[in-house]
Amino acid sequence: MIHYSCDRCGRRIDTEDEIRYSVRIEVEAVFSPSEDDLTDEDRDYLMELSESLDNGTIDEPLYIDGTDQRKQYDLCCECHRKFKANPLGNQSKQLNFSKN
Ligand SMILES: [Zn+2]
Repeated sequence: MIHYSCDRCGRRIDTEDEIRYSVRIEVEAVFSPSEDDLTDEDRDYLMELSESLDNGTIDEPLYIDGTDQRKQYDLCCECHRKFKANPLGNQSKQLNFSKN
């Protein structure tokens, strides 16, 4: 039998008695250049690629360290409720919550 523990509070989740909430978070680095930067439309990527292959110096794909990641968390009922109310842990949102 596989035992799960809540990744937020650390409490053990008894999957026979309670629901385990599996949360998957995917972070993707997105670069959206403004139109002013798109002056290179006629750039011959295929030609550049073949040149890179000829030189044997093809670069690794652009990877910004620490930004592209997928994570999965197990949450207990209580932590799932809190996560759902405030997925990003926005503190100001929590502070202003009672004003409405
Ligand atoms: Zn928890």
